[in-house]
Amino acid sequence: MALKLPIYMDNAATTPCDPRVVEAMLPYFTEMFGNAGSRNHSYGWAAETAADTARGQVAKLLGCTDKEVLFTSGATESNNLAIKGVAYMYQKAPAGQSGRGHIVTCTIEHKAVLDPCKRLQKEGFDVTFIEPPADGVVTAEMVKAAMRADTILVTIMWANNELGTINQVREIGALCKERGVIFHTDATQWVGKMPTNVEQDNVDLLSLSAHKLFGPKGVGALYVRRHRPRVRLQALQEGGGQERGFRSGTHNITGIVGLGKACEIAMAEMERDALRLAKLKSKLEAGVLAQLDSCVVNGNAEKRLPHISNISFGFVEGEGLMMAVKDIACSSGSACTSASLEPSYVLKGIGVGDELAHSSLRLSLGKWTTEAEVDFAIEQVVQGVKKLRVMSPLYDMHKEGIDLSSVQWAHH
Ligand code: PMP
Repeated sequence: MALKLPIYMDNAATTPCDPRVVEAMLPYFTEMFGNAGSRNHSYGWAAETAADTARGQVAKLLGCTDKEVLFTSGATESNNLAIKGVAYMYQKAPAGQSGRGHIVTCTIEHKAVLDPCKRLQKEGFDVTFIEPPADGVVTAEMVKAAMRADTILVTIMWANNELGTINQVREIGALCKERGVIFHTDATQWVGKMPTNVEQDNVDLLSLSAHKLFGPKGVGALYVRRHRPRVRLQALQEGGGQERGFRSGTHNITGIVGLGKACEIAMAEMERDALRLAKLKSKLEAGVLAQLDSCVVNGNAEKRLPHISNISFGFVEGEGLMMAVKDIACSSGSACTSASLEPSYVLKGIGVGDELAHSSLRLSLGKWTTEAEVDFAIEQVVQGVKKLRVMSPLYDMHKEGIDLSSVQWAHH
């Protein structure tokens, strides 16, 4: 069967909606369109029941109780609510003063964690940004070294969105529990892909987003622990008092139903999917590395999600590389800022040089990625890189065994 081009290998950016999710959502646009806050008629009751069902489906996937799940607009909002909500509730000094409390995070977190932390820093909180080692994995030891007597919150992602690397969440959680510090994890890339149990994993707050697990965009959830300890949050958005006052606003019932269904499907299928994707990813990496020298797979080789692969290609130029693989929808190691291409701060954060960061690709597989697509990707990448290297004098010198770092370049 002919492949539909470009093939989609950007599932870490977003995933298509599972048709079963769409089917579950549809009646809530038309027949069952009620407001879950309408207490006086069956339209409202139907919406409330739908939200309750979805809450149960999310809770089951996380191993928590229904009451511990808050619906949000996605992981960005969940992260903001968790981080600022804890900071304002547990602060040690009022606004306008310094010494309001200390927060531990990491330099390669998603912007939806980094920017709230930087905001709090401006407002008088102290923030330690852990610099991860070259393999990208944040350990409990690193968190321990960063903690202080006035630490109120640790926020470390479960799995990195660019590298797929998996942090020592359970151990970091245990450390936080021991110290009486609240632990939040941005689990956007993890949940629905890998087994999660907030009790065993010692998590107090967890962010997730439906559109990364074959659900709709614009809806997510925040898990908030209610026992041992009972985590309190200051609401960031005020209004009708929905979600027990933590998140006012009419429920996005269609989205919530979709999120619930996506969680139910993930619960049933993630183990099988993970095994299949791990094999495909190994095939992809082995296929590329067998045919090309001077390539590196970024991040820890073992502690990595089954579906994300981030590879740097030496001796090619970033924009050329993207052109060469235009039939693969994937991400590059460059981020578009207003005017220029910036190398990825995540790759920089684990010590990858600017040049190599630009000539990197993130290929992320999904539920419907086929072996034929992986074969196609290997061929495209290998042919593309080889073609670019034919034009590279540096690659010729490298092939001749010249140590490029020792070359005295003429400056004009
Ligand atoms: N955190 C991580 C790790 C992510 O990968 C993303 C999505 N790129 C987000 C947060 C933001 O999620 P959302 O799009 O649901 O706001």
